Amino acid sequence: MRISEIYRSGTFGLSVEIFPPKNESGDAELFRTLEELVRYKPAFVSCTYGAGGSTSKRTIELCNTIQKDLHSTATAHFTCVGSTREQLVDWLKEASEAGIGNIMALRGDPPKGEETFIPADGGLKYASELVTLIRENFPEMGIGVAGYPEVHPEALTPQADLENLKRKVDAGADAIYTQLFFNNQHFYRFRERCAQAGIDRPIIPGIMPITEYRRIQRIMSMCSSEFPAELVGRLEAAQDDLEAQFEIGVEYAIAQCQELIDAGVPGMHFYVLNRSQACKRIFDALGWHESEA
Ligand SMILES: Cc1cc2nc3c(=O)[nH]c(=O)nc-3n(C[C@H](O)[C@H](O)[C@H](O)COP(=O)(O)OP(=O)(O)OC[C@H]3O[C@@H](n4cnc5c(N)ncnc54)[C@H](O)[C@@H]3O)c2cc1C
Repeated sequence: MRISEIYRSGTFGLSVEIFPPKNESGDAELFRTLEELVRYKPAFVSCTYGAGGSTSKRTIELCNTIQKDLHSTATAHFTCVGSTREQLVDWLKEASEAGIGNIMALRGDPPKGEETFIPADGGLKYASELVTLIRENFPEMGIGVAGYPEVHPEALTPQADLENLKRKVDAGADAIYTQLFFNNQHFYRFRERCAQAGIDRPIIPGIMPITEYRRIQRIMSMCSSEFPAELVGRLEAAQDDLEAQFEIGVEYAIAQCQELIDAGVPGMHFYVLNRSQACKRIFDALGWHESEA
């Protein structure tokens, strides 16, 4: 199903995001995870595009496998990093010919150690330009874009960030998938500000269950989300007990998701980190039962 159709139907749009593993054992774990999670009938499984374009071919291959072998819709993430306009179009053509009908259109991050994003010669500078390129060349493609409830770290002001999001929507994005967050208040304020700015596409909260204390530092270095002191405190107090950390993380995510559902979100996008255990517990608790398949 195209992203443009998912949220129109009125049914809740569950989506899960995976990344291309680096080795065979990672592949095996990913496929076990996917087999478990597709039973919850996600609207799509999305596959990231590695930093610096490192997984360019793998992203298409995995999306192909997800569609052909697991019979689930795939969404391919795609960034502007390191590619000319022609190379971007070539990749999109390949994706389209592989039967991929949805793209998560992103700018990509600057390389490690650099603060600003420098586009390739003849390439694109912003995700809004990528959305335009996709719409011009592949008008039927479903397009998702990134949104930042706690503001993108490079944005000059929150207002400038919102104006950028509006540009992405005006260029043809069908839905907005947010950066992960742990405090729902940020999401509610963001949704409100989007509405005031005339951004009228579905806004899908991005959820990452934190089930290990040792991951907190890494996640904090990846994004600028606020970690609620209560969650950090509870995980810290259970530092020596992995099982307890898992339970705390799952319990927090269930409560966070239930509150968002009560607040009327049209779907949820889970950063599953190629593992199924926590998501299965959360999906079951939210009443999204597995099918027999
Ligand atoms: C759901 C989701 C999935 C992701 N998947 C991937 C992935 O697969 N691979 C990957 O490498 N990264 C991924 N990312 C990370 C993303 O690439 C980074 O957050 C990146 O830094 C910004 O990408 P963007 O598409 O939001 O960029 P943009 O929308 O282009 O924004 C980047 C910055 O530029 C500013 N800006 C935009 N337009 C203008 C303008 N005209 N003038 C001035 N400033 C402007 C924005 O405010 C923002 O600060 C993902 C993020 C999310 C939320």
